[in-house]
Amino acid sequence: MEALKCPNCGGNILIDGEQEYYFCPYCGIGIPNKLRKKFTIEIKEDKKITKTIVKRDEAKIEEEKTSRIETIAILCFTGLFMLFTYLVCR
Ligand SMILES: [Zn+2]
Repeated sequence: MEALKCPNCGGNILIDGEQEYYFCPYCGIGIPNKLRKKFTIEIKEDKKITKTIVKRDEAKIEEEKTSRIETIAILCFTGLFMLFTYLVCR
C-alpha cells in the first residue's frame, strides 16, 4: 500500500491507481503525480487490512462456487426426476 503524506496538513493520502493529481481528503490540497515520490510513505498497517479484505473476497468467491454447484445439483436432480416420471408414465 502506497500513500502520500500531505505537505499541508500531514494527513495520509492513499494512492488509488495512476492519477494526474492526488487530493488530500483532509484539507483538499492536490499533489501532482510528478512530485508524488517526494511525499510517498509506507503504511504497514494497511497491508494487513488489504490482506484481510482479499481473504474475505476469496471466501465470498468460494461461497458463490458452492451455491452454483448446489444449483447445478438441484437442476440435475429435477431433470432426472422428470425423465424418470416420463419413462414411468409412458
Ligand atoms: Zn492535507
